[in-house]
Amino acid sequence: MRILLTNDDGVYAPGLAAIHATLAAQHQVTVVAPETEQSAVGHAITLVDPIRVRPLGPRTGFQGWAVTGTPADCVKLAVSELLKEPPELVVSGINLGANVGVNVLYSGTVSAATEAAILGLPAMAISLGTHQDPDFSYAAQVGAHLCGQHRGLGLPPEVVLNVNVPALPAERIQGLAWTRQSEARLVERFLPRTDPRGHTYYWQAGETMGQEGDLATDYPALLAGYVTLTPVHHDLTHHRLLERLRQEPISLPPTE
Ligand code: MN
Repeated sequence: MRILLTNDDGVYAPGLAAIHATLAAQHQVTVVAPETEQSAVGHAITLVDPIRVRPLGPRTGFQGWAVTGTPADCVKLAVSELLKEPPELVVSGINLGANVGVNVLYSGTVSAATEAAILGLPAMAISLGTHQDPDFSYAAQVGAHLCGQHRGLGLPPEVVLNVNVPALPAERIQGLAWTRQSEARLVERFLPRTDPRGHTYYWQAGETMGQEGDLATDYPALLAGYVTLTPVHHDLTHHRLLERLRQEPISLPPTE
């Protein structure tokens, strides 16, 4: 398969190298990834600055480009300019840290995959559920194995497979779980500091909360040791409510 590999942690991130190693053993992999870390930029694209690209030489071990843009920029630019042929699968990750619940909205990792889906390409995002001492080796095997099965799922083109892998040894993984997004979200905590000129500045130091709950949802299932698979798409419409709202007596101001 021709695979486009991207991420939001940047082209030097160990998670990218880990899944590149397992994918490149079986597939033709081109890396188009951000030059610097772009975590939590969501689905941002670059409009007011130029986007520069740097070919990745043999020294990096990758074939492809580093891009001074966001994850969504990387996918757009790869598909419309850099790649000779469209990829058969777009893989984003492996992200350092889970992308579950409400936090999926902030995720550059998932947004890169969603961008691919908007362009009509099959796509998968993959994240490892830890920020400390990451061992990407099992998640990289999971990612490569799922890539081989992706086509067989028959997902509609607008749907992305959002995969989260627990940071556990392989023998403690409980299995696969199809999940929906949980209500887990980042609970903000800002750490104030003082700069050399005496001005206060802040570090975002939030943590994901909402660990309790339904094992049919992503974060609780991940914490219970399951590799979670959540089909996601870009449509934010609340479809269930739309039918009722169409019956509501709401109007525009009268015209003269
Ligand atoms: Mn990240």
